[in-house]
Amino acid sequence: MSDPIPSNIDDALRTKPDVVVVGGGNAALCAAISAHEAGARVVVLEAASEEERGGNSHFTGGAFRFAYRGVDDLREVYPDMTQDEIDNVDYGSYSEERFLDDMFELTEYRTDPELSELLVRSSLETAKWIARQGVKLQPGLGRQAYKVDGKFKFWGGLALHIWGGGSELLKALYANAERRRIPILYDTPAIELVREGEAVTGIIARHRGARVKIEAGAVILACGSFESNPELRARYLGPGWDMAKVRGTRFNMGEGLMMALRAGARPHGNWSGCHSVAWDVNAPPFGDLTIGDQFQKHNYPFGIVINAKGERFLDEGANFHSHTYAKYGGEILKQPGMFAWQVFDAKVSHLLRGEYRIRRVTKAEANTLEELAGKLTGVDPEAFLRTAHAFNAACRTDVPFNPNILDGRSTQGLALDKSNWANPLDMAPFHAYHVTTGVTFTFGGLKVTGNAEVEDLYTGVIPGLYAAGEMVGGLFYQNYASGTGLMSGATFGRFAGAHAAGYATRSMAEAS
Ligand SMILES: Cc1cc2nc3c(=O)[nH]c(=O)nc-3n(C[C@H](O)[C@H](O)[C@H](O)COP(=O)(O)OP(=O)(O)OC[C@H]3O[C@@H](n4cnc5c(N)ncnc54)[C@H](O)[C@@H]3O)c2cc1C
Repeated sequence: MSDPIPSNIDDALRTKPDVVVVGGGNAALCAAISAHEAGARVVVLEAASEEERGGNSHFTGGAFRFAYRGVDDLREVYPDMTQDEIDNVDYGSYSEERFLDDMFELTEYRTDPELSELLVRSSLETAKWIARQGVKLQPGLGRQAYKVDGKFKFWGGLALHIWGGGSELLKALYANAERRRIPILYDTPAIELVREGEAVTGIIARHRGARVKIEAGAVILACGSFESNPELRARYLGPGWDMAKVRGTRFNMGEGLMMALRAGARPHGNWSGCHSVAWDVNAPPFGDLTIGDQFQKHNYPFGIVINAKGERFLDEGANFHSHTYAKYGGEILKQPGMFAWQVFDAKVSHLLRGEYRIRRVTKAEANTLEELAGKLTGVDPEAFLRTAHAFNAACRTDVPFNPNILDGRSTQGLALDKSNWANPLDMAPFHAYHVTTGVTFTFGGLKVTGNAEVEDLYTGVIPGLYAAGEMVGGLFYQNYASGTGLMSGATFGRFAGAHAAGYATRSMAEAS
């Protein structure tokens, strides 16, 4: 493995790399770095231009879920933790068992037990690994912890976020790849796998209008799922999903999944399911990197959500938003006109995240509920007022409100009760946010082994083919725990890189 590193497409064609990585997001870069760490010569193919590189990973707020026993584990991942951050924050702990429980409960016990166990039990090690690669983390205060009695308290274990979100994550990973002199070929979508017998021995890509063949010891597919492709969304997710907005990249067209299926890869997981959230009704059709994830509206647990008929249609307080937000986008899609309004009063304004205060927000504000009713575009105002008054009368105000715990302050006696954080809407000004469905990523993917090898339809693996990130199927069904996408990409990317490098070395040694 001592040949010179190819620096452009001509060199990549001339000098057979050990590992080709398809994709330019978190999973792909973790795979490329890991393969390089294992001694492989690596080439990365990114469908997007350099300006638009990085896929969905670029759009993230950087929530990063991993198991930890307490502050000491966190400090290994975040060595710059200040004394103030130690004294004034209650991080609690997030055991592997609790992380596994979350994976199982949220997916209604469908998550692939082996893959999710691997994900969970490797998560702290992956967090340490990514920190060693130059990615910085910081406490997710305000997003996953509120200040109560002078102290922040984390409620769901999601203690650290990537500092600076997706754009800093990508900067750090690309800088790392640059230091390693890993060539990245932009505007180069992969279109087909190259096979020799059963083994995958390279990839066909399009580069500047030409079809090019890149031979390699192994191929890692880390090029996202099919969320950007309306035809595949309608085909797999069902009617209406073609009209949902896409929260992130326009490049995840499902091409990697389709080429793997054509090669006989085994589909796995929830192909009719996806992660989708409440997203500003006037957001553009795909993500906007200047806004990132800020079109999302995740604080509905502190208000009520109503549809065009002025009716509530989900339990806003069923759990912390991080346990419900990824499935509630799908509930909005089912409503007439495919929209909803989130309604709050002044008592909870301070709890709303920054995403409610961006300039590009579709918002209505009023001093009375009656005045607000007339401003909720598309909503039956009389019905809304009936819903709001009935909700107010049903709130159990005898139970204290606490945003850091499932406080049990529910409504009582409604056809659809709110289970926690039920505050009457009674303090002006009232404010409401107009949202529709924003698709994040799709859940269906490929079956991989614990080494990230892609399995074939029947009994074995497809030699030389690996997958990571959104392309791994079987982890998420119907719902998702926030911060798991980046962790899954980093974990299976790390494994894919190391094992693809090992496979390429062995197969090249055998061939020579
Ligand atoms: C707005 C938003 C916020 C999010 N927030 C979080 C969060 O806080 N925490 C979290 O864990 N997750 C979050 N997610 C989910 C997270 O982004 C994904 O789970 C994760 O980034 C997926 O990583 P990936 O590398 O698999 O895919 P991506 O990052 O999407 O990368 C796929 C790459 O493949 C490239 N590509 C596509 N097709 C081809 C092809 N044919 N050839 C070559 N390249 C190709 C794309 O251009 C892209 O570079 C968020 C997602 C969005 C959209």
